[in-house]
Amino acid sequence: MKELVAVLVFGLLLSCRAGGTRAGVELGTDDVSAGASGTDTSTRVVLLGTGTPNAEPDRAGSSLAVVVNGQAYLVDCGPGVVRRAVAASGNGIDALSVEKLTRVFITHLHSDHTLGYPDLIFTPWVLERREPLEAYGPAGLAKMTDHILAAYREDIDVRVDGAEPANADGYKVNVHEVGAGVVYEDANVRVTAFPVRHGDWRQAFGYRFEAADRTVVVSGDTSPCASLVLHAKGCDVLVHEVYSQAGFERRMPVWQRYHSAAHTSTVELAKIARQVQPGLLVLTHQLLWGATPEQMLAEIGESYDGEVRYGRDLDVY
Ligand SMILES: [Zn+2]
Ligand SMILES: [Zn+2]
Repeated sequence: MKELVAVLVFGLLLSCRAGGTRAGVELGTDDVSAGASGTDTSTRVVLLGTGTPNAEPDRAGSSLAVVVNGQAYLVDCGPGVVRRAVAASGNGIDALSVEKLTRVFITHLHSDHTLGYPDLIFTPWVLERREPLEAYGPAGLAKMTDHILAAYREDIDVRVDGAEPANADGYKVNVHEVGAGVVYEDANVRVTAFPVRHGDWRQAFGYRFEAADRTVVVSGDTSPCASLVLHAKGCDVLVHEVYSQAGFERRMPVWQRYHSAAHTSTVELAKIARQVQPGLLVLTHQLLWGATPEQMLAEIGESYDGEVRYGRDLDVY
């Protein structure tokens, strides 16, 4: 009898862990398997790169995908974007197969968010993407694209005119330099760009994705600003950049001035989350400066009691 009770209790615990609500702040990457096994029609967020300019081997450059009905909408293309997308497709998210990478929304032109742009232009083409890439982003994106295509002209000519059976259109890019407002709409999703405050950048955006079942907001790189709170209010998933307050306090004053003008601390993010009340807050672009992920979560948990996840590459939410 004792054994039977023990088995029942154990089973109950397991089922709570798998399907029950988990309140509060949490580390962990168990959402990966939960997301990957979800149906293809549900809207999912796939973190491709949670990194920063620091070249950390386990964190690719800034990039994520909002996946709706088998179509991936990338946000940013930091270094490593295509290989992380292929890894996610290997985890069961077919929309991130290399030849299906056809839409990207760029928050701003900082190199840690765009060094993978040539990769996103050329690698899927070499691997049989047949249609041009549709790229949305701030002023300057057209010029950046022209320069990249010019830099790789020899490669394009050899592949198109030589013996390799390369298709004629897959390397092309339709650039859409956008302003604030609705920038994209199809049967799956409506995408709104909103201005954020990121140091000296004249134009930097966050993006709001509205699908039938979920609304996802991506902060991009930003210091606290009213526009983000307005556009993120009540969303299902808010993916937000963050730095550790304790780590910040150890920085040189010159860097403190920069970071407080360009990025968001854990203390500030907790306040933002209280105003926005997202269904789930996912941390990305984490700047730790010696703090641990657990400490970062604790800093937020001091004044925010909603659901928070410490995002890692290839997590699915
Ligand atoms: Zn950045
Ligand atoms: Zn930036």
